[in-house]
Amino acid sequence: MSNDVVVALDVGGTGMKCALVRPDGTVHHAERHPTLAARGPEAVTANILDVAAGLADRARADGLTPVAAGVAVPGVVDEETGTAVWSSNVGFRDVPLRALVSDRLGVPAALGHDVRVGGMAEARLGAGREERHVLFIAIGTGIAAAHVVDGKAFAGAHGAAGEVGHVIVRPGGPPCGCGARGCLESVASASAVGRRYVELSGITGVTASDVVTRAAAGEELARTVWTEAVEAFADGLLTAQALYDAGIVVLGGGLAESGEALLAPLRIALDARITFHRMPRIVRAALGDTAGCLGAALLALDTLEAPS
Ligand SMILES: [Zn+2]
Repeated sequence: MSNDVVVALDVGGTGMKCALVRPDGTVHHAERHPTLAARGPEAVTANILDVAAGLADRARADGLTPVAAGVAVPGVVDEETGTAVWSSNVGFRDVPLRALVSDRLGVPAALGHDVRVGGMAEARLGAGREERHVLFIAIGTGIAAAHVVDGKAFAGAHGAAGEVGHVIVRPGGPPCGCGARGCLESVASASAVGRRYVELSGITGVTASDVVTRAAAGEELARTVWTEAVEAFADGLLTAQALYDAGIVVLGGGLAESGEALLAPLRIALDARITFHRMPRIVRAALGDTAGCLGAALLALDTLEAPS
C-alpha cells in the first residue's frame, strides 16, 4: 500500500502539468509537457496517453506501483461517461479519454473538469481545507467556478454547475463569450479589466495586473476601472452566496495574484451588499497552478475508494 501512487495529468490549452501523487496527496514526482494543441485533438490524445504511460513507467522504475490515473481537461466534460465532450482550446470532440487512459495503463482512470478538480484540491488540500462548503472561483481570461461540498465538486445535470462567471451583473453590458451581455466574466475577468482600461485611456497593451499596479500608485483612471470590476465582482458574489451559502470563497487564477488589492475591497463591497446572507471568508487560493493536477490525483484516488 505504501508504494502506491496515482498518475495525474492536468491538460491545458498550451501545457500539461503532470505528477505521480501518493495516497496522502504528497507529490513523488512532477513534470510538465507541451499539450501540442496545434496538431489537433488526435495528436493531443496520443500525447496524453504517451505522457501518462511514461509516468507509470517512471513510477515502476522508482519501485512504486501505479494504481490509478486521473486526467483533468478544460471545456465540457461528461464525468459520468469519462468523455471530453468539447473544448475550444484543446479541440476535443467526444473523446472517450477515461477509457483510453485506463486501457493504455491497465488501471482504473477518472476524467474531470479542470476548474472543478482544481476547486476540489483547494477544498481538500488547500485554502478551503477547514471548511465544508467551498466556492472556488478562478479569475483569468474568463471566470470559472466550482462549488465543493465535503470535498466533492458538483458538476450539475449537464456538467455546467457553478458557472458564476455567467451570472449577469450588468444587463445590456459588454458582450460575453457565451453570447449573452453583461456576464460577470465580461466585466470582471482579467481580460475585461485590461480591455476596459485600454478602451478608456487609449493606451494599448495594458493588462489587468498593470491596472492593479497603477491603481495602487494612485492613478485615477486605473482606480475607477479597478473599482468598477470589484463592484461587479461583489454583485456576482452576492448572487453566488444567495445560492450556495459558502463558508469560504477561494479565489484563484491570474487576477487572484493581486492578493489584498482584490480581496480587501471585495470583502468590503460584499459586506455592504449582504442582507440575510452570511458573509463567507474570502481568501486567495493556496495551491497555485498545481491545483488542477492535484485534483486529478484526488479523482484517481477516489476511483479506488468507490465501490464498483
Ligand atoms: Zn457569459
